[in-house]
Amino acid sequence: MCGIVGYTGHREAYPVVLKGLKRLEYRGYDSSGVALLNGGLKVYKKKGKVAEMEDAVVGKDLHSHIGIGHTRWATHGEPSDRNAHPHLSQSGDIAMIHNGIIENYAKIKTELVSKGYTFKSDTDTEVLLNFIDDIKKNNECSLEEAVRIALRRIVGAYCILLIHKDDPETIIAARKGSPLVIGIGKGEHFLASDASPIIEYTKEVVYVNDYEIAIVKPDELILKNLGNDKQTPFITKLDMELAAIEKGGYDHFMLKEIFEQPQTIFDCLRGRLDADKGTITMSGIEKYAEQIIQAGRIIIIACGTSWHAGLVAEYIIEELCRIPVEVEYASEFRYRNPIVNKGDVIIAISQSGETADTLVAIENAKEKGAIILGIVNVVGSSIARLSHAGAYTHAGPEIGVASTKAFTGQLAVLMMVALKLAQVKQTITAERYTSLCKELAEVPDKVADILKLDEHIQKLAEKYKDATDCLFLGRGYNFPIALEGALKLKEISYIHAEGYPAAEMKHGPIALVDEHLPVVFVATKDSYHEKVVSNMQEIKARKGKVIAVITEGDTVSPTLADDIIVLPPADEIIAPLLTTIPLQLLAYHIGIAKGYDVDKPRNLAKSVTVE
Ligand code: GLU
Repeated sequence: MCGIVGYTGHREAYPVVLKGLKRLEYRGYDSSGVALLNGGLKVYKKKGKVAEMEDAVVGKDLHSHIGIGHTRWATHGEPSDRNAHPHLSQSGDIAMIHNGIIENYAKIKTELVSKGYTFKSDTDTEVLLNFIDDIKKNNECSLEEAVRIALRRIVGAYCILLIHKDDPETIIAARKGSPLVIGIGKGEHFLASDASPIIEYTKEVVYVNDYEIAIVKPDELILKNLGNDKQTPFITKLDMELAAIEKGGYDHFMLKEIFEQPQTIFDCLRGRLDADKGTITMSGIEKYAEQIIQAGRIIIIACGTSWHAGLVAEYIIEELCRIPVEVEYASEFRYRNPIVNKGDVIIAISQSGETADTLVAIENAKEKGAIILGIVNVVGSSIARLSHAGAYTHAGPEIGVASTKAFTGQLAVLMMVALKLAQVKQTITAERYTSLCKELAEVPDKVADILKLDEHIQKLAEKYKDATDCLFLGRGYNFPIALEGALKLKEISYIHAEGYPAAEMKHGPIALVDEHLPVVFVATKDSYHEKVVSNMQEIKARKGKVIAVITEGDTVSPTLADDIIVLPPADEIIAPLLTTIPLQLLAYHIGIAKGYDVDKPRNLAKSVTVE
């Protein structure tokens, strides 16, 4: 969370930084701000979205060849102009932006207050900044040296960018836990939380590692560790096009990303699944396949939507591979002293590959000897680099805050992993394996067909948009999809929604049912179908409004449901890839019908780099 951008070079910095902030706004939009160097440090910042800061600086002299900018997801201190970044040190000499949390800020603040420092904001960031400024003064050292000394005492996560009033060329940057990419241009450098602000200018980038400090000038990039030893920057080429991060004619990123799914799922399967030959090629997984099938258990670690993908995977891996699977919330797993033994297999799932809790959870498990497999979307991200092996979801940049195409990418990868392992372990018949491979290959076309229901779902959204609560029910492989449907609706439309296993409803939630409550059943044809139909009867008997996602040819559910969404048939193991699509559209259209900003839902941010 929080997007940071920096520029030093021959261009005007402000337009570069501003455009970068707009691209990173999905990471937080509580406030934004820039610091420029133009006859002294100039800081402009404003509560709210980047556009509000942009309006506020109209008419100001923004000339500068160096600049840093920030879009905030508040952790310490309410969203306000005062708490917005960049912050200025008490001396006025240094401007700094920060993504992360300084856990020991309170102790350092007390020390600084006793030395006479006063603070203009409630943030942990301003504490770190004045701490650095204080060290610089006391030691009469360079800013770089002061940053190094300060960071040795810091507990927490950070990516920081600093500029000094007397140095019109240099940005000092450092990271631990929060991401930082540096783009290398001719006589210029670009710094950002991810590559999206950079690709327009250069494809050559360096991913800065934890505990590294970057000294960045127009013509020079020096990397050092906290011990002041130089590190060799590892330059990689970005494999991403500008079009991938623009709306391409859609009103919202979320809608674009929902509609991209036939292509993104295809891209995820491409080069891996060959349905005609019946082969699945996943070199990372293959390398560890023997160890995985010998493992006592697999632990899947994730947060949010990725956790739902993990639940689907649990059902599929246990069914096809007969290996016990546990699915854990990363935030719980990392703090509850879990039992991890040498040889246990951990699958970490994260869209951004930077999710703070997931990252620390796998670091801990790795130390205990576990094999780490990463399923991430962002190439080169921290989780990808920390894993022994894994697979990218290849969904392309996901900018809408509510995850859609990354989720289906995760499902597709996890299904291939399960099939691959089942084949190696010989727990699947050749027939079933071949038929599932074939069905998986048909998913992109089926998703394209489901997207044709968009108009129908928009009408349903109009009909149900005023509901105050909503239940989502499903069984088996569709139970996690019910959870995901509820989460999507909450995120985008702010309607209170709950997902439950359909049978569990009798143990409490059924008390909520009356003629006003919409209940979405994920009720495609599978081995649980008849039981789900009975649950539908139970809701109907209590006058609930039933919206049923069903399979073509189902003649019973339409007689019970108030509204139906009809999907093409699919094996129950593949079904989650299809059943999630109409629920994404439903959440999107209800959010739009209520007039909300679906790409930037309130209080949320993408890429949760804070705990
Ligand atoms: N802790 C800082 C603040 O609240 C940065 C927050 C973040 O990176 O999300 O301003």
